Amino acid sequence: MPAAGYRGRFAPSPTGDLHLGSLLAAVASYLEARCRGGEWLVRIEDLDPPRTVPGAEGRILGVLAAHGFEWDGPVWRQSERQAVYETAFGQLREAGLIYPCACSRKEVASIARAGVDGPVYPGTCRHGLLAGRMSRAWRLHVDAGCVAFDDAVQGVCKQDLATDVGDFVIKRADGLFAYQLAVVVDDALQGVTDVVRGADLLDSTPRQCHLQQCLGIVPVRYAHVPVLANEHGEKLSKQTLASPLQPEHAALNLWLALCYLGQCPPATLAQGTVADCWQWARAHWSLDRVPRQRSVVWQSDVGMDMRCDLTNDRD
Ligand code: GLU
Repeated sequence: MPAAGYRGRFAPSPTGDLHLGSLLAAVASYLEARCRGGEWLVRIEDLDPPRTVPGAEGRILGVLAAHGFEWDGPVWRQSERQAVYETAFGQLREAGLIYPCACSRKEVASIARAGVDGPVYPGTCRHGLLAGRMSRAWRLHVDAGCVAFDDAVQGVCKQDLATDVGDFVIKRADGLFAYQLAVVVDDALQGVTDVVRGADLLDSTPRQCHLQQCLGIVPVRYAHVPVLANEHGEKLSKQTLASPLQPEHAALNLWLALCYLGQCPPATLAQGTVADCWQWARAHWSLDRVPRQRSVVWQSDVGMDMRCDLTNDRD
């Protein structure tokens, strides 16, 4: 990795096509990296074969290229990296930080209280499997006390892992490594210094900070940009059937992303070229102007005449 350099990344999961919401994270991480003279990597997070949609990876890379993104180095694929996750898993096991767990999701859900991201694991198997129970998954111990980090967009964020999440899974019952482990290991091995991504991952970040500490990894800096949400506050996603980005509307898409990111691009740019968009964006990008919100509301009727009065109410 560069000694004192900046290295950012975009890490889409190939569970479907990129949509406008995904573009916000890609644009913000790309501009922040380039404007700091840094590198920008693309990593395909195809850790979960059942969720991988055939052809999605090719379409994601094609759409990124059509929108003028240029990434450094080869694209990494998590599906090819099981051995390094296994090594990290071994390190945690050796250090006595993980334990086998026999509980099914259903069992946990029936006794646990709700946390920030699903049920809080009540620690049933923490001190050993009960007689006759078989190990299914592996969980990482978390201790009481706050994990805090200073997010460049959202400010200081705190979470008590013990009360908000509980011991969390790092190797699943189906034998797959959990996203939380893979993302921390890959960011470290790729020399990523700065993670700029959607605020839907804000609640996962304390788990990742804790894992970095357990694995002796230098922490990265974080900036979580708002996700696009509908008027009910639901994140625009493949699950909510957000429309795939159309390469023929690349300049308009980039312009919209810049608007939602609070950058106030001139309206004329929406009809310009992709190169015009990037030229303007690189000259004017400021992370300080990104709304300090977890989400911004997607306006479906926003078209070519949209003015830059989209939410930018930083206080
Ligand atoms: N693969 C994750 C996603 O597509 C992003 C992970 C990350 O940026 O840390 O939501």
